[in-house]
Amino acid sequence: MIRPATSLVLLALLAALGSCSRASAPPDTRAKSAAAAPAAAQPPKWGMVIHTGAGNFTLAGIAERKDAMQAAMNDALLAGYRVLAAGGTSLDAVQAAIVILEDSPLFNAGKGAVLTNAGTVELDAAIMDGAALRAGAVAGVKHIKNPITLARLVMEKSPHVMLAGDGAEAFAKEQGMTLVPQSYFYTERRARELERIKAAEAKQRAHGTVGAVALDQQGRLAAGTSTGGTANKRWGRIGDSPIVGAGTYASDACAVSATGAGEYFIRNVVAHDICARVRYARESLEQAAREVVLEELVAQHGDGGVIALDNDGHFTMPFNTEGMYRGSVGPDGQIVVKIYRDE
Ligand code: ASP
Repeated sequence: MIRPATSLVLLALLAALGSCSRASAPPDTRAKSAAAAPAAAQPPKWGMVIHTGAGNFTLAGIAERKDAMQAAMNDALLAGYRVLAAGGTSLDAVQAAIVILEDSPLFNAGKGAVLTNAGTVELDAAIMDGAALRAGAVAGVKHIKNPITLARLVMEKSPHVMLAGDGAEAFAKEQGMTLVPQSYFYTERRARELERIKAAEAKQRAHGTVGAVALDQQGRLAAGTSTGGTANKRWGRIGDSPIVGAGTYASDACAVSATGAGEYFIRNVVAHDICARVRYARESLEQAAREVVLEELVAQHGDGGVIALDNDGHFTMPFNTEGMYRGSVGPDGQIVVKIYRDE
């Protein structure tokens, strides 16, 4: 018979062993030990969450595009779901979803991105592999159809984390990517938007930055974000999206993609702050994300929101604006897309 004290020691030992293997074993080993676990093991809690921008938009303002946007988000979630359901990686799921959103003219990423003060398009993107703590990012690229794909190549095929401007495009060519002319990205809607902003000399933030976080069946988290940044931007402005820890972050415990007024997200290192609160302060993911987005950012007037996912499959999508386009899918394949707060 095991005496209480002995059983306590045993329990402590088991707990220590459990946390060691979680913290130090490489993902493949973890996957194998999960597969070898007794029947009582939890079912996989894989899934994906996406956003396509937050803002103070009115229903009337988005009415024309709402259904098309929801359909495109549905396609993106389905693409990610298919990857994950087939046992693919969270990185592949994130990339597959973001490529679809970049190819759609409806969002501020890839085709249909916002215009700079000079009427050009300059794109930023990042992708992060939480299990291996690898990241790749591109900033200020002008001829890359799918910046998220180039960010992934930076992560996997270069010794660097972030490449910018002409150098990033030279690397893209070396990797066999086809570059596209600026006209590919151009949409009438963005041209009108730029005119309006310039005429009003207003600081207006354009919405539609896209992002995804995913957890695969092996328990690996990934995050990605892609954007045209802010309309009317100047001087080679780079936002938070390609900055690891600001607009995009993933560890083995937490993945975040942000959208909003990038300067605030950079200064507050938002994505990493949320994951750090979970890790060091032992806050729940929801509590951490809400505190950062609904308290810290609100106090500074930093508009925006995040999607965040942990390695148990819990996710949260707080935003401090009127709305945030967001959606999720889990193992049951049920796709949910929402725009406003009370949905
Ligand atoms: N965060 C992006 C940026 O500042 C813009 C956005 O999410 O709307 O570049």
